[in-house]
Amino acid sequence: MLGPPGAGKGTQAKLLAERLQVPHVSSGDIFRAALSDRSLLGQQVSRYLERGELVPDDLTIAVVEGRLSEKDCENGFILDGFPRSVVQAEALEGFLSERRTELTHVINVQVGERRIVERLTARRSCRQCGAVYNVLSRPPERAGKCDVCGAELLSREDDNEETIRNRLRVYEEETEPLLTFYGHRGLLVTVDGDKQVEAIADEIIRCLSG
Ligand code: AMP
Repeated sequence: MLGPPGAGKGTQAKLLAERLQVPHVSSGDIFRAALSDRSLLGQQVSRYLERGELVPDDLTIAVVEGRLSEKDCENGFILDGFPRSVVQAEALEGFLSERRTELTHVINVQVGERRIVERLTARRSCRQCGAVYNVLSRPPERAGKCDVCGAELLSREDDNEETIRNRLRVYEEETEPLLTFYGHRGLLVTVDGDKQVEAIADEIIRCLSG
C-alpha cells in the first residue's frame, strides 16, 4: 500500500489483510511497538519517528525482511508503509525474487494535501490493539475509548502539525518516486482515498481480482 501519510492506507491494509486472511505488515507499527517496548530497535528509531524522518534504509530493510521471513507470511502479506524509498523497493524486489515470489499489486491511495492534515489531526489510535479512529469521520462509540478492547485512545505523537509537514515533505521527496518505479513495472493501481472507508476497500478488492 502506497500513499501519503493520512491517506488511510493503514486502515485499508488492515481491512484487506482481514478479508484475504494474510498478515498485515506495517513498518510503522513495528517501530512503534519497539518504542513502547523500549527495545534496542526502539532506541535506534525513536529520533526518526519523533521528527517524521525516515529510519535509515539498511535498518528498515533488515527489520521488514525479518518479519517477511516469518512463517505466517509464506502465503502472502499486505505491506503497509514499506517500501518508502527506491532503495527499499529495490531491496524488496531482490528479497522476493530470491524466494521465487514477487509483488502482485501496488495500491496507491490518493488524497489531497488539505484532507491529509485534517485527517491526521483528527486521528486517534488505540495503544493496546492498534485500532484506528477519526474523531470527525469515524468516531468510536464511547468518546476516547476503543470499540474493540475498551482501552484509551490517543493521538500519535507524530500527528502534530510540524511533524506532519515534515512527513509530507519526506513523502514527496523519497516515496513519491515509487509511483514511477511501480508504474514502469505495471503493478500500480490508484484508488481515490477520499471516499468512505468501505467503498475504498471494495474498490481495492475489485482491483485485486481484476
Ligand atoms: P507510518 O506509521 O507508516 O506513518 O510510519 C511512522 C514513522 O515510522 C515514519 O514517519 C518513519 O519515521 C518510520 N517509518 C515507517 N516505515 C518506514 C520505512 N519504510 N522507512 C523508513 N522509515 C519508516
